[in-house]
Amino acid sequence: MSASDCIFCAIVAGLAPAARVFDDDDCLAFMDIQPLARGHVLVIPKRHAENLFDLEADEAAAVARTAKQLAHALRTVLEPEGLRLFQLNGAAAGQTVFHYHMHLLPRNADEPDVNPAALHGRKPADRAELEELAGRIRTALDSHLVS
Ligand SMILES: [Zn+2]
Repeated sequence: MSASDCIFCAIVAGLAPAARVFDDDDCLAFMDIQPLARGHVLVIPKRHAENLFDLEADEAAAVARTAKQLAHALRTVLEPEGLRLFQLNGAAAGQTVFHYHMHLLPRNADEPDVNPAALHGRKPADRAELEELAGRIRTALDSHLVS
């Protein structure tokens, strides 16, 4: 898959909708449209890179920094008991969108468990609810960002 037919590149370019929570020179983060749980966020590098093997080291670092900031924001907003980060490389590993992305998935112990590598059959989330949650996460991010 090339950048020209990549849904995440379309989101970066503003050509496809997404409930954005973070945006800087290197990274974009937005609500997963088919969430495995409430607060399921994706962090992507803005440059099209298919997977971890194609990612530059500084892009990997930027994604990690963004994930760290988002982790605090998600904890503030949703107060989950736990938070999973996972990232799949290659179809055999369960990757379905071939633009590198890191999942952040809040989790409570009493919720049904999910297999992050078996993401098919998910239903689209309510857009208004995603936008409302994205707004709360952005507010929490602003309160955590320093300098
Ligand atoms: Zn892409």
